[in-house]
Amino acid sequence: MNPVVRFAPSPTGKLHIGNIRTALYNWFFAKKYKGRFILRLDDTDKVRSTHEFSESILEDLQWLGIIPDSIEKQSERVSVYDGVIDRLKSHGWLYACYESPDEIECLRNRLIARGLPPIYDRSSLKISNEDHANLLAQGKESHWRFLLPNFEVSPFEPKRTEIYWNDLIRGPQRIDLASISDPILVRCDGTYLYTLPSVVDDIDMGLTHIIRGRDHVTNTAAQIALFNVLDANIPAFGHHNLLVDSSGEGFSKRKGALSIQTLRKNGYEPMAVSSLACLIGTSQSVHVYENLSQLSDVFDPQKISCSDAKLDIFDLGKLSQKILSRLSYADVRSRLVASHSDLGESFWNSVRPNLKIFSDVIQWRDVVNGNFIPRIFSNDEIEFLKFSAFLLSDEVWDSYVWKRWTDLLKIRTGRKGRSLFMPLRQAITGQDSGPEMASLLLLIGKDRTIRRLLLL
Ligand code: GLU
Repeated sequence: MNPVVRFAPSPTGKLHIGNIRTALYNWFFAKKYKGRFILRLDDTDKVRSTHEFSESILEDLQWLGIIPDSIEKQSERVSVYDGVIDRLKSHGWLYACYESPDEIECLRNRLIARGLPPIYDRSSLKISNEDHANLLAQGKESHWRFLLPNFEVSPFEPKRTEIYWNDLIRGPQRIDLASISDPILVRCDGTYLYTLPSVVDDIDMGLTHIIRGRDHVTNTAAQIALFNVLDANIPAFGHHNLLVDSSGEGFSKRKGALSIQTLRKNGYEPMAVSSLACLIGTSQSVHVYENLSQLSDVFDPQKISCSDAKLDIFDLGKLSQKILSRLSYADVRSRLVASHSDLGESFWNSVRPNLKIFSDVIQWRDVVNGNFIPRIFSNDEIEFLKFSAFLLSDEVWDSYVWKRWTDLLKIRTGRKGRSLFMPLRQAITGQDSGPEMASLLLLIGKDRTIRRLLLL
């Protein structure tokens, strides 16, 4: 049977590198086993989901080279969820509750303060039909919880009820349904939380494997219970570790984690993002691969570690740098044009080893064009620079000029090493380091170089 997997982001923010890890794992799984990869937009939260975020998810995936076989939107399937809710209600699997979010929080805190697990006590189940009618008549709105099948006779006497699955990544998992609260499936305003639509879609779309972050492990227990009461086949589950930032905090769309869009705009290479997102936090070493199919060939889900992985943006810079240093002028010409930095092939060849991200090219374009803040020099250095300008004016302008000129300067001034090269580099480029001066000099040209040495 060919597998069906999905990547199911909520369009409530921009994708970050942790989301891409999930997308890639699913995409690779689908490719490897000749299955289907569905992009499912979990947009049931009407307030926070936006069209712009959906569009940016599509753009990000396209930029990385992840092409879904189909795209589904939960907002277009609400009537299907309504039907399932009616079915669950008629079988007594849902019950109405009236606590406000503040009251729920208070109940939780009270239990925690008493050293008890913060599990909802099902008190709404005790409300009589008459009281329900009164509450509704008073204009109270109810939300709906799923009565977890964790009891034999009385729901007020839950019993240990283990949900077991053999996780594709974490191995055997057991979660006791008596250790979690009945999940809220429907909000007061009738909109759906993620739990039920996800299961309904997974069933209707024939999902065979669900690969997602380990933050969903507890949801999985409640969702398997839903698969069961809906008499559906249970897909295989795999929960990968999460990526955390340098302070150990998880990436979160809500908190505005560094987005893929920002990485793209800042000129990081897509394969640097994918290679890092995929291989960090595994026992495989993080190499940069040229394309997704190479990365997919080396990737092995068995090698994903259990603990979360710290992602350092500096590493992304290093990987991007490696890729950039291998790209030819033909590969990048259109990007150079788009960033108004196309100064020709020799410009690209001389600056590419110095680029961490593509947009660094702009800085070097400005250096060549003389758009930088001139440095301030001591009198001694000003004299040296003047003398070097004088010597340079006599030089023949060919590809060996830098070597001939600096050899001559060495002899004539007695300077060498840093004291010879640093003032020249600083005066000509405004920088302390950068591409080889021999090639920069040719790009800048004789007249401009002399003017810079004379601090004009
Ligand atoms: N919309 C959910 C999320 O973004 C999907 C989780 C899942 O893959 O089931 O976390």
